[in-house]
Amino acid sequence: MALSPENEHPLKAFGWAARDSSGHLSPFKFSRRATREKDVTFKVLYCGICHTDLHTIKNDWGLTSYPVVPGHEIVGVVTEVGTEVTKFKVGDKVGVAGMAGSCGTCANCKNDLENYCPKMIMTYGAKYYDGTITYGGYSDIMVSNEHFVIKIPDNLPLDGCAPILCAGITVYSPLKYYGIDKVGMHVGVVGLGGLGHMAIKFAKAMGLKVTIISSSPNKKKEAMNHLGADGFLVSHNKEEMQSAMGTMDGIIDTVSAVHALLPLIGLLKTHGKLVMVGAPEKPLELHIFPLLMGRKIVGGSCVGGVKEMQEMIDFASKHNIIADIELIPINYVNTAMERLSKGDVKYRFVIDIANSLASFS
Ligand code: NAP
Repeated sequence: MALSPENEHPLKAFGWAARDSSGHLSPFKFSRRATREKDVTFKVLYCGICHTDLHTIKNDWGLTSYPVVPGHEIVGVVTEVGTEVTKFKVGDKVGVAGMAGSCGTCANCKNDLENYCPKMIMTYGAKYYDGTITYGGYSDIMVSNEHFVIKIPDNLPLDGCAPILCAGITVYSPLKYYGIDKVGMHVGVVGLGGLGHMAIKFAKAMGLKVTIISSSPNKKKEAMNHLGADGFLVSHNKEEMQSAMGTMDGIIDTVSAVHALLPLIGLLKTHGKLVMVGAPEKPLELHIFPLLMGRKIVGGSCVGGVKEMQEMIDFASKHNIIADIELIPINYVNTAMERLSKGDVKYRFVIDIANSLASFS
């Protein structure tokens, strides 16, 4: 008979889990494996709340198995390293994002694209090599193979840095891969949430002109004055959208819900690229003629590989990029999820794990 989550491994762990599709999170005792030769064990200090966590606890994609401990924007301090670990030592500031493992032998893994490995194991809600379930960063400790551990530069505060591990890489990677990172290019960012606000910061640091396309007119002032966007279009304002037709080299679409693509394709120049990173639970309608008439591309992108993740963090360090966060205690997490579902956060909730989790154990 399979052991319970609390007893299957030697290291006692404590976190908050959702038990069903109500998505309600509550205290959860489980365990983690003992530090193996190539493992890094760390005390979790902060964990960001990504909309993917919300999709997962609510089972929006029909893929969730419960109980699930979410969290893949995890940062902390190393407490133990395995005998064969070469990149990290006790006391280092580190992070783990969405990946817990990959096959290491396929073409994607060999090309630093572990994120596209068909056998990639996610940080939470997946089956690890030993058959046990992975649990994420809404918890006190993490154990990870060092390959999937990221070094956090000293100049970045850990709380503001946590969201970069997912929200940051998810927008950085497509800007680079799709070549919409050249100084002076005009990029649109659809949806001003966690990913969207990181997209402004990375794109501005790359020297791009950035226009936000948002369903929330009340976000305009802050997008322009505080986040540094160059333009702001309200997606349901036909005149505003019309005025920007054919002006953009690329668009990063971060929207978490079903929405219209046709007006976005209209914003692209000839050869423009619309890159989908948001993950709505239902398919979107794609009109083909506007793509033909301008050789336009609609593509996708999912986080980034480990090498690119370190490159992205080093870029963030050089340009002092961190997320704008609202730091919350763990017992606020259900309210935070409710607010996130309404777009009521500027711009990422981060859970203060070290200072709040223990009081509920
Ligand atoms: P978020 O903070 O909730 O931001 C999403 C934004 O989308 C909202 O702030 C809102 O911006 C807009 N939006 C929401 N509902 C909308 C609707 N019905 N119509 C139009 N716009 C709407 O979420 P996030 O953490 O940035 O994540 C965004 C999406 O990316 C999620 O689906 C998440 O699962 C996915 N994701 C994908 C990857 C990947 O690797 N591809 C990685 C992480 C997350 P406005 O108010 O400005 O319109």
